[in-house]
Amino acid sequence: MKKKTFKDIDVAGKRVFVRVDFNVPQDDSGKITDDTRIRAALPTINYLVKQNAKVILCSHLGRPKGVFNDKYSLAPVAERLSELMNMPVKMAKDVIGTSAKTMTSEMKEGEIVILENVRFHAEEEENNEVFAKELASLADVFVNDAFGTAHRAHASTAGIAKHIPAVAGFLMDSEVVALSNAVENAEKPLVVILGGAKVSDKINVILKLMSKANTLLIGGAMANTFLVAKGYNIGFSKYEEDRIEVAKEIMEEAEKLNVKLVLPVDVVGGSEFSPTAKRKNFDVENIGSNYQALDIGKKTRKLFAKEIKNAKTVIWNGPMGVFEFKKFRKGTLAVAKAVAKSGAVSIVGGGDSVAAIQELGFANKVTHLSTGGGATLKFLEGATLPGVAMLEDKDSEKKKVKTPDFASVDKKTLEKPAAKKAASAKKPTVKSSKTKTTKK
Ligand code: AMP
Repeated sequence: MKKKTFKDIDVAGKRVFVRVDFNVPQDDSGKITDDTRIRAALPTINYLVKQNAKVILCSHLGRPKGVFNDKYSLAPVAERLSELMNMPVKMAKDVIGTSAKTMTSEMKEGEIVILENVRFHAEEEENNEVFAKELASLADVFVNDAFGTAHRAHASTAGIAKHIPAVAGFLMDSEVVALSNAVENAEKPLVVILGGAKVSDKINVILKLMSKANTLLIGGAMANTFLVAKGYNIGFSKYEEDRIEVAKEIMEEAEKLNVKLVLPVDVVGGSEFSPTAKRKNFDVENIGSNYQALDIGKKTRKLFAKEIKNAKTVIWNGPMGVFEFKKFRKGTLAVAKAVAKSGAVSIVGGGDSVAAIQELGFANKVTHLSTGGGATLKFLEGATLPGVAMLEDKDSEKKKVKTPDFASVDKKTLEKPAAKKAASAKKPTVKSSKTKTTKK
């Protein structure tokens, strides 16, 4: 079902609450090291400003665990956004407190106010009903543009949509359209390329996409489990002992469905899991017992590139090797190059795959670079994303709840966390490169 977007409603003069994903990486001094996520929200913000809406932005940043912590303040984001928009961006000191309420109620048309980090309230991730109502009370309309968090049912991604009209932003809409088209209306041959750390993370995606794909290319540490399932000795490469049976079942299923499942025929081995490891090439039949597969080999790069060249549609998620180590990123870069040059409709998701495309300067040669990690995978497996499901359907004229009833809201309880400083809050967990996979 198609969802209404911000263009389907009249936003002029209205207070529009936009949930964005400004969860940007920062260095130790708080400097933003990659502003892609802020830039990705600009089309929606620009449009709303031009339509004379009062734009209220809401995002999380890191994992402050429900307490105020200066370190996770959105202040640096507000500053960067102001530079990118070339206009002032006002920053509220809290999320639903006096500052947020005063600033949002005094806004003029075309102005932007950004609220403090919504995860300074534990109620956000709990999808607390009262908190969601409080968020809704700041605005007339909700626009969800945070595709990256759409697989989470939080107060600012899903709960709020119960109380005010809710529609998709530009980024959300383009993700949903591109991903659904790639799966449901793919021009064949459809080549699906999956890599990364674990089979277990991607079983559902494999199963879902296998029923649609003509060819499935598997690389990365994921491929190791398949190689073990096929009886190869893989040195001390990472693999998942408890997924060997699943790998066997997937290979059998591929045969039944007439899907060409292609595994690496050679690998680049590393003497240790380190950027300075000694490198050696091995055919999969002869992987050295003192080595671990850290990338796909030269023959595999060619084999995969040949399959990708024949594709009319490509879906790619996950690196072919340890992309973080320069010595072991050739496989991922080769796939990125092949995808960009294929001329196929191409959908690329996952941090490392997107980074490889960007590193080669091929971003404009790819049909769609997905901004979601977990959300993209969930969408591809056909799961319902709460942040999408809560939005109004395109053909529905009925509004959900027009006037929220705030009489029952216990405001004091909710205003506390953002006002309090909690020096004890911990660092956010940055996406880890480590896997819990077993070593052989
Ligand atoms: P994912 O988040 O599932 O896309 O996995 C990405 C992670 O997989 C990256 O951190 C890579 O370093 C890791 N990875 C890919 N290939 C290998 C490999 N052959 N051995 C160990 N880790 C790998």
